[in-house]
Amino acid sequence: MIFLNGKWLMIIKKNDEITIKKGNQSSNEEWVIFAEDGHKVLLDTIKTPMYNPSGELIGILGIAHDITERNKILSQFEATTTLLSAIIESSPNVVVFALDKNYHYLTFNKKHKEIIKMIWGKEISVGTNMMDIFGNHPDKEKAKANFDRALAGEYLSIVEEYGDEEKTRQFWQDYYSPIYSSNGEIIGVTCFVLDISELKRAEAALKESEYFFKESQHAAFIGSYKADLLRKRWESSEVLDQIFGIDKDLYQKTNDGFFDIVHPEDRGHLKIILVEDSINKRKPFNSEFRIVRKSDGVTRWVYGLGKVIANDQGNVTSLIGTIMDITELKNASEELKASEEQLRELNATKDKFFSINAHDLRNPFSVVLGISEIMADKSVLFTMDEMRQNSELLYKTASSTYALLENLLEWSSLQRGICKLKIESISLEKFIKNLNESISEIALKKSITLVNNIPQDATILADPNMLHSILRNLLTNAIKFTSSGGSVTISAKMQSDNSFLFTVKDTGIGIPDSIMKNMFRIDINISRPGTSGEPSTGLGLILCKEFVEKHGGSIWVESEEGKGSTFSFTIPAFSD
Ligand code: ADP
Repeated sequence: MIFLNGKWLMIIKKNDEITIKKGNQSSNEEWVIFAEDGHKVLLDTIKTPMYNPSGELIGILGIAHDITERNKILSQFEATTTLLSAIIESSPNVVVFALDKNYHYLTFNKKHKEIIKMIWGKEISVGTNMMDIFGNHPDKEKAKANFDRALAGEYLSIVEEYGDEEKTRQFWQDYYSPIYSSNGEIIGVTCFVLDISELKRAEAALKESEYFFKESQHAAFIGSYKADLLRKRWESSEVLDQIFGIDKDLYQKTNDGFFDIVHPEDRGHLKIILVEDSINKRKPFNSEFRIVRKSDGVTRWVYGLGKVIANDQGNVTSLIGTIMDITELKNASEELKASEEQLRELNATKDKFFSINAHDLRNPFSVVLGISEIMADKSVLFTMDEMRQNSELLYKTASSTYALLENLLEWSSLQRGICKLKIESISLEKFIKNLNESISEIALKKSITLVNNIPQDATILADPNMLHSILRNLLTNAIKFTSSGGSVTISAKMQSDNSFLFTVKDTGIGIPDSIMKNMFRIDINISRPGTSGEPSTGLGLILCKEFVEKHGGSIWVESEEGKGSTFSFTIPAFSD
């Protein structure tokens, strides 16, 4: 039973009149009325005019359906559908679609439609067979296989790459699920797809940059580190572990322990730079130091760079930077330095050679020429005494020039690299006797006593020509720089390692500091005339040094001005 108020009665009446006027069935009219218990009722009405057999209108048949419940369900369904489509359309990167068992679209969201259009250039609508989109592209089989698995009841979650390569190939995270009907039968498949291309691209870019970083570290042999000053530990890149020769799984990277890797001689200095300059004063760290590689104990040169990092409160919390193995670079630069030094010396050698040729040979020759010219001149008559004096001058000049020539020849063969060491067994007694023959005459002329302290029975393995040249130069120098009445002592003794130590000691004028600090250097001239005005060229000691070094020995001098000098050199023991 339904109660209608007056207003409704008027409406019904009006509608009935319209039906009558039209003479045929009238439309559904939805009425909102109130039922007995007062609740709102929605009615769907159909009104049909009734005629008697003679065609006269006798009334109106009205049938009303209560559609309250149906409408409620319908509006609920509409709300759910709106909500669902709002959800599936809401994310710009989510693709949702459903297919029936024959891969026809049941539904899809806007994003899916757009993507199909973008990748495959196809317009889709409900009912389109998805397999038709792919044409003959291999993606077709791939997609079909996934749908078939879901249609067989499987729930799939896979990352896939789809798309036509010429256009855009995208990465997708796909979730396939079967659709079950109310009676438990699989009637289709839903597919929920996330576009993870950006993520994948970012991941690939990260991998690429990591790869680039790692490879460039390997190529340059530069490692990186971060020392945490609060936790007192450090981290390092693979290359730095390699430079330090440490096993990342076994080595404990504590800040204090780091100094164990540093070469003991560089530890103190490095600690000062790192702690006082970099951490306390916040200066950039920039230093070359040595490490002792943990894996094999080999010393390597490294170059470290770094800077401190402070927290929001301004306190230094860590030190980060790079360490590069520069051993090879360092060796190359040492070699370069050595060859530069060699070049400098060569240049000085050349200068010396020219200066000796120019002055030291011309002067004695002009003396010899001058005297011999006067002597040859028949018109000049010399007394016997004058004759003796001139001859003596000639002899002196000729013999010192000869000594110089000898040195020059030896030196030039040394420079040309043709002076090879020829080791022979030398009986020192005989050797010194020979040497004395030429030396004793000069000593005698200057009234200098020669003392021979060479052990009688000693033999030595050395190059006789070189040893002769060394001793001849040291002895003539000793005589040259010792005044009459002085003495020159030559000694030799075998040392515990079987090497021989030779000394030539004089009681001469000694060597001032200015000359002392430049002894044995070719690039600085320390020549001075002897005590009787004997000429000097500054070549003898250089020859001595080179010949001693060719034997693997060393040469040095001790001297006190006014008291004398002692030149010593060693000739290491040679095995036959
Ligand atoms: P030279 O004797 O021809 O000058 P050296 O190379 O033998 O060449 O010696 C270079 C210089 O070293 C000498 O000129 C001299 O100043 C100093 N010198 C060498 N030996 C002695 C020595 N025994 N006593 C003092 N000075 C010396």
